[in-house]
Amino acid sequence: MEKINWQKEDLNHLWHPCSQMKDYEDLPPIVIERAKGINLYDINKKCYKDVISSWWCNLLGHCNPEISKALKKQANELEHVIFANFSHKPIIKLAKKLSEVTPSGLEKFNFSDNGSSSIEMAMKMSFQYFQQTGKTKKTRFMALSEGYHGETIAALSAGDCDLYTKIYKPILMDIIKIKAPDCFRCPFNKQRENCECECFCDCEQQFEKYGNETCAVLIEPLLQGSAGMKIYPALYLKKLREICDKYDVHLIADEIATGFYRTGKFFACNHANISPDLMCISKGLTGGYMPMAAVCTTNEIYNAFYDDYSKGKAFMHSHTYSGNPLGASCALAVLKILEKGKVTKQANELAPYFNSLIKEEFLNIKNVGEVRSIGLINAIEFVKDKNTKEALNSKFRFGYEVYKKALKKGVLLRPLGDVIYFNPPLIINKKDMDFVVKIAKECAIETLKELGL
Ligand SMILES: *Cc1c(COP(=O)(O)O)cnc(C)c1O
Repeated sequence: MEKINWQKEDLNHLWHPCSQMKDYEDLPPIVIERAKGINLYDINKKCYKDVISSWWCNLLGHCNPEISKALKKQANELEHVIFANFSHKPIIKLAKKLSEVTPSGLEKFNFSDNGSSSIEMAMKMSFQYFQQTGKTKKTRFMALSEGYHGETIAALSAGDCDLYTKIYKPILMDIIKIKAPDCFRCPFNKQRENCECECFCDCEQQFEKYGNETCAVLIEPLLQGSAGMKIYPALYLKKLREICDKYDVHLIADEIATGFYRTGKFFACNHANISPDLMCISKGLTGGYMPMAAVCTTNEIYNAFYDDYSKGKAFMHSHTYSGNPLGASCALAVLKILEKGKVTKQANELAPYFNSLIKEEFLNIKNVGEVRSIGLINAIEFVKDKNTKEALNSKFRFGYEVYKKALKKGVLLRPLGDVIYFNPPLIINKKDMDFVVKIAKECAIETLKELGL
């Protein structure tokens, strides 16, 4: 029997996302055969600890028996059905459950199949709402600087990471950027634990200038993920909610990365006790099993679309896989596990251990500027100099070098520039925490040496 060279076959035909394909000459694709818990196993039986939850979506471990069971059962009953006029039990149950667990006031759920789409939908909904309620001058959007909301054109426009947006600038929407909180390099020299969000002044200025022509402001609540796991205080969200009310601007909370206990609470908005007008969820929603996303919104917004067909007020946005039954069955299984409370209790109990361990191992390294954490998410920012907080030399790909070394040692990290982070499935145990922190430290120190630091 001829032996297949999977890596070669891959490179013959595939174009991987978020990759410079030339890098694969040096680091060929890792072909994964099976997975269990936080472990990935490749075709040579090598194990990798997945402490980034495979792009932040795997919530409860790979091949979770309860989710797999629900998916198998659903596949034998109903795999898909057109979602206009038709419905099915799993999605009805899911919407009902979501109305119970999401922040109060979110009563209607419109499903799609990926996070970026849900962002587009939330933006279109907000715009259309104001068009249909007589506030036709509200046509613009605001978003925080350095945000990330996905990579379709509107979502990309709302985002602000040069890495993804720069080349497309000529074809992007003109979205007003509010200077995001930057607690590590706070321009007011305050501490995120006890500041008054002095930095909110930029937001106030933008609202003063543009509030009347704005339909919505998009934010990643508490945690700007792609920006390097930047964490900011809940107070900022409270202030934002207030100013949105004042100027009649919708608050769109992008909880795609932060939802489902990633920050220690069900949703990041819960930390500030606020309800957004529109909330986007995806990633953890199906435990990383099936592509599914939802926009959660209020009856007030929903009602602005509710009229005779001839008035043309319906929300005519659709995706073929909207409300897919397989996705819904996985999401129901996820919610059932979360509801039992055992997993979230363990995660919240181990979170302080994980954070102390990382602080202990990393803070004494002279090039570590900050260790920050929320829930099980921990980020370590490396700098050239602790005092000036100057970034490392970007020509040397620090994160990528650490990434390659960690892979060799069986840990899947995926640093964001100079920031090494962990965002593991909620089921991670102490032993795995010890192991991945040890490997990450070894790899970081080796890489710093190569950099001559
Ligand atoms: C991943 C992510 C998105 C985009 O979701 P996709 O499913 O990849 O399109 C949007 N916003 C945030 C905060 C994300 O982390």
